[in-house]
Amino acid sequence: MSGLIPYVHWTIPDTSPQKSGRFYISSESPEKIFSEHREAISKAYGITERMPFYSFLWNRLWMDSPLSHEKMNALRAAFVEFHPNRSEESEMHAFLGALDTCLRNGFELGVSLSPPGHADLGVTTIFPHCPKCKLVNEWTFSAPLDDSARRCELCGTEFRPSATYSRQLWERPKDNKSTEKVRRILP
Ligand SMILES: [Zn+2]
Repeated sequence: MSGLIPYVHWTIPDTSPQKSGRFYISSESPEKIFSEHREAISKAYGITERMPFYSFLWNRLWMDSPLSHEKMNALRAAFVEFHPNRSEESEMHAFLGALDTCLRNGFELGVSLSPPGHADLGVTTIFPHCPKCKLVNEWTFSAPLDDSARRCELCGTEFRPSATYSRQLWERPKDNKSTEKVRRILP
């Protein structure tokens, strides 16, 4: 039983073959990573002094794709000084390499955050969330009762909760010797 890991997925569409990867940081809070880089991050992301800097910061960093070069520079400066734990080291290293490649060659870097969810006994639940910034709307394990349109409190995107909610079971077919799992959509 565990929450799904909120990975940042990245892609460089301009390289051939296309380079992509993902990373996740569990060893440090965004507060620590970005405290020395607040000014550059704020400027690159348009975060004004009236906005609480750390509120939903992780969602904010990856909600617009591709990243502007100003954002890439600000992120690079912060992550270069960050020392991830050993299990996260190679993925972070690959992301820094991607930032360097894009900054050097003028390439675009596509980014997206994986949606908020939970996996338990083969059932994967994706909670209703904003399709743009992935901010969770409701931690519910069943279809949202109130499906009226709402506006995301971070990015202002309008969405219906049912559009991003899903529940799936991965199981082995009983009458089949295949080890391949099949997906069943749950209500
Ligand atoms: Zn949003």
